Amino acid sequence: MANNPNIFYRDKKCIKCHRKFKTPQVKSNAVRIDKRDTDNCPYYKLDNPLLYEFYICPHCHMVFTDHFEEITKQKDKDILDRLFFKMRNVENLFEERNIDDGLRLAKLALVAGESLKETSIKLAPICLRIAWFNRYKEDVGEESRFLSNAYAHFEKAYNNSDLKIKDKSVPEDFVVYTLAELSYRIGVYINTKSWFNQLFKFPNRSRYVMKGRDRWSDIRQEITKVSK
Ligand SMILES: [Zn+2]
Repeated sequence: MANNPNIFYRDKKCIKCHRKFKTPQVKSNAVRIDKRDTDNCPYYKLDNPLLYEFYICPHCHMVFTDHFEEITKQKDKDILDRLFFKMRNVENLFEERNIDDGLRLAKLALVAGESLKETSIKLAPICLRIAWFNRYKEDVGEESRFLSNAYAHFEKAYNNSDLKIKDKSVPEDFVVYTLAELSYRIGVYINTKSWFNQLFKFPNRSRYVMKGRDRWSDIRQEITKVSK
């Protein structure tokens, strides 16, 4: 494979077998955002760093993200061994990745996260990335399926007041904005209005409230018409 000057390799430790390996990443000075969709889906002029948010250990084939906890229980290790150890055709996942590679890894990370019973606030962004990777591929059906999964996980995390929302490591106004936007995109308009109402209770200067006001003024007519 030709060397891509925008990619470098950094050390990572596997959360399952604890061995070290090299994982590819986009150099920060090569990250150039072109634009974002209203649900924050980014488009990059050069390489897409989202494809490298998912790690695969070359020793045990465990797939994970920065948000997964270290795996300590033997029971969990056994489940993951069955899932990943015999996985074939993984060679191309250790270097520069295309959208299909990123999509495959994101889906594997979701399976791993579900097996480990990771919380909804950790699974929601993975579902969102799977939806976006499908959007890049113009696969509308799969995009919509995973937007719905992302919505369900964000909603569960919000309703259960997940710790990461409480301690503000995931901003609450971001979660509410995303719920408003995703409910619109999946066509559950009745929820869209109430999520935007919920969003506008946050301080006016909040970035997501400002973003939400613009968005609401664009779509309110459509929603009001349908939900009458
Ligand atoms: Zn490993």
